[in-house]
Amino acid sequence: MTKKKINILGATGSVGQSTIDVVAAHRDLFDPYLLSAHSKKDALVAAQKRVDATHAVLTQNGSAELLARLEHPVDITLAAIVGMAGLEPLLKAIPYAKVVAIANKEPLVAAGPLVLAEAKKHGTKILPVDSEHNAVFQVFEDTQRDKISRIILTASGGPFRTFSRDDMCDITPAQAIKHPNWSMGAKISVDSATMMNKALEIIEAHYLFDMPAERIDVLVHPQSVVHSMVEYVDGSVLAQMGAPDMKTPITYALGWPDRLTSPGQKLDFTKVSHLEFESPDLERFPALRLAYECLRDGQAAQLVLNAANEVAVAAFLNGEIGFLQIVETVERVLNDLEAQNISSLEALLDFDKNVRIYTRDVIISQ
Ligand code: NDP
Ligand code: MG
Repeated sequence: MTKKKINILGATGSVGQSTIDVVAAHRDLFDPYLLSAHSKKDALVAAQKRVDATHAVLTQNGSAELLARLEHPVDITLAAIVGMAGLEPLLKAIPYAKVVAIANKEPLVAAGPLVLAEAKKHGTKILPVDSEHNAVFQVFEDTQRDKISRIILTASGGPFRTFSRDDMCDITPAQAIKHPNWSMGAKISVDSATMMNKALEIIEAHYLFDMPAERIDVLVHPQSVVHSMVEYVDGSVLAQMGAPDMKTPITYALGWPDRLTSPGQKLDFTKVSHLEFESPDLERFPALRLAYECLRDGQAAQLVLNAANEVAVAAFLNGEIGFLQIVETVERVLNDLEAQNISSLEALLDFDKNVRIYTRDVIISQ
């Protein structure tokens, strides 16, 4: 059997390293072609050695080499760069890959129509790696989509699930990046703590499954055992469960449509004493409300939500603003900025840049 050629973008990150583990466990199935990282040279070289990848590229001095290397036909490109920095590599990868497995949710939130149009144009299959969307994908019967009443995304609630707004005032970056169930990069850990991660995931689900906002619900489920659910009109609810380990959705995406053994953890039901589900509190976690407002307001608003959040999270991690100010800043920027026409990639990147400049101004003037 011919091995599948695979590219891993963001190979040194949390998802990237889990992907390296999966690929290393299946050397007979995968032929790694290209790995990328931003600045962690030693980690990139180690990953390249471990899976014997043909090329490894750092992007800290510019992405020209990465973009050129992506113009090589492969079976799978796994997109695990963090933030909008992943958009151009993702768009470049789509024409040359049969499957693009996307963990990097920010480009889908800010530029969903563009990414999907490019995939459609080239007949490229987009597979979700984000655990909730991967779960939905596994139980979403596309031929019966008119019989699907809603998608239910589960959320762990993050480390501050039970905190009052007052308790949240003094949260430090070190506290915010310690997630109770998942081990992840700093940016998504902060997003989980503010629940902006779930806000981004609502919009991600809207694009990946072509579902309107009113058919996407969120349930807080602190145990992170049920990774998401699909409810059908007859009342049947199909859920995907597993240990909170990204190797499971990564293995699913790399093996699809087959199933491969995963080097990750398995769920031990005897150690799961109970499963809780509760409605999210939109007063304490206003990010979720913003996601629904942005779905109503359109693509420009979704781009603003993402860009302002990336800038605000960086400012929080840098000690410039407090925890509560992250989402407050995003909401302020959403209220201040006029919607723009972002039909071309150039217009989109230009608007994204301006939103970031404006958000910095808001942060500095606070
Ligand atoms: P990490 O911060 O751990 O890793 C990010 C990766 O992207 C690293 O390889 C990093 O390189 C690279 N990178 C950072 N900045 C740039 C840039 N400007 N240009 C190119 N490459 C860059 O992130 P995660 O692995 O946690 O998350 C990756 C994506 O997957 C995010 O979009 C996140 O939302 C999503 N995701 C993550 C999950 C998780 O469990 N971690 C779960 C679901 C989704 P270097 O190491 O050299 O800095
Ligand atoms: Mg997720």
